Amino acid sequence: MAKLSIKDLDLQGQRVFIRVDFNVPLANGGKEITSDTRIRASLPAIRYALDHGAGVVLASHLGRPDGEVNPEMSLAPCAARLAELLGRPVKMAPDCVGSEVEAMLPAPGEVLLLENVRFHSEEEDNDPEFSKQLARLCDVYVNDAFGSAHRAHASTAGIAAHVSKAAAGQLMDKEVEYLTLVTQDPPRPCVAILGGSKVSDKIEVIRNMAKVVDKLLIGGAMAYTFMRAKGEPTGNSKVEEDKVELARELLAEAGDKLVLPVDHVVAKEFKAGASNETVTTIPEGTMALDIGPATVGKFADELRSAKCIIWNGPMGVFEKPPFDAGTVAVAKILADSGAVTVVGGGDSEKAIKVAGVSSKITHISTGGGASLEFLGGRVLPGVAALTDK
Ligand code: AMP
Repeated sequence: MAKLSIKDLDLQGQRVFIRVDFNVPLANGGKEITSDTRIRASLPAIRYALDHGAGVVLASHLGRPDGEVNPEMSLAPCAARLAELLGRPVKMAPDCVGSEVEAMLPAPGEVLLLENVRFHSEEEDNDPEFSKQLARLCDVYVNDAFGSAHRAHASTAGIAAHVSKAAAGQLMDKEVEYLTLVTQDPPRPCVAILGGSKVSDKIEVIRNMAKVVDKLLIGGAMAYTFMRAKGEPTGNSKVEEDKVELARELLAEAGDKLVLPVDHVVAKEFKAGASNETVTTIPEGTMALDIGPATVGKFADELRSAKCIIWNGPMGVFEKPPFDAGTVAVAKILADSGAVTVVGGGDSEKAIKVAGVSSKITHISTGGGASLEFLGGRVLPGVAALTDK
């Protein structure tokens, strides 16, 4: 990567500010963490810094407190969980800036977790004064919160201008490495599979990836907006009427790179277990809720020779079986492909888990929004702010 990595820093005796993503799901009025996956994902960077003689200041947002202190969005439960995982104490700061916090700063080998940065509206405003106050807490800055890298906030971007060095943590490094590979110089043939609900959410991704890949396979509800643009029957399937013209343009731009479903699983009701049939032409009064087996076969043919596969978005309403079959089949094809496989966060990640093939995927992105912006060709502010190598 063209940016400094935590491994390029001399951390001995330094105080390092690591922006982590502890935006964990909470229950019981904010007291109980229901999944600690994100805390575990940050352990390599935290352990690396401690093992190399640094004192560690950690910062994160949690939820959307909108600039107000909200005890239900306190990071205190994360400090307790992190202490268990690290096997050493983690001090919890009452705030993220100010003299009380400055009096608690960690010595080498110690860890201090700052309180939710979004308790201050200046965080999301990327306020320069607030960024400076955060920078006062450290010698060097590390950003390991890829999931927030598409936001130009004080703790993800602004702070970098006020420190001597700003580097990527292990998690950020891996995300940028794989997303750069697939968007700039992928092993070929390279195939992208895009699904999910709306064309409008993924216009930039479709445009940018169409330039990069050899084939672009489209499934999920967004396929029906493309089918409408081609004048094919879509019944009651989800179509974005105001994006049909755009879909026509995208079809023209992508040419025969773009591959649409050739059969569909249709139902009259949008619910799990609804009676359904597989068709090649969508009948009036029915909606297509999944790609059919012939489409899975066609996609498999395209993927068989691929050396690189990028996947974002489910092929159907995978939350409602049996309309998960197409998505699960695609997950299994990826797992057995032998290609470099990169899966964008969110629903595709869930589908990979449901199919039980997570360990066979080269890289599963931890940031849904951030990975979509990256695939769309945008420069992420949290990455741009890091020091060049
Ligand atoms: P996205 O957040 O854009 O990746 O879209 C994910 C959502 O798209 C999921 O909730 C799916 O249920 C939904 N989806 C996928 N295929 C279809 C379809 N054929 N009809 C309606 N919704 C769909």
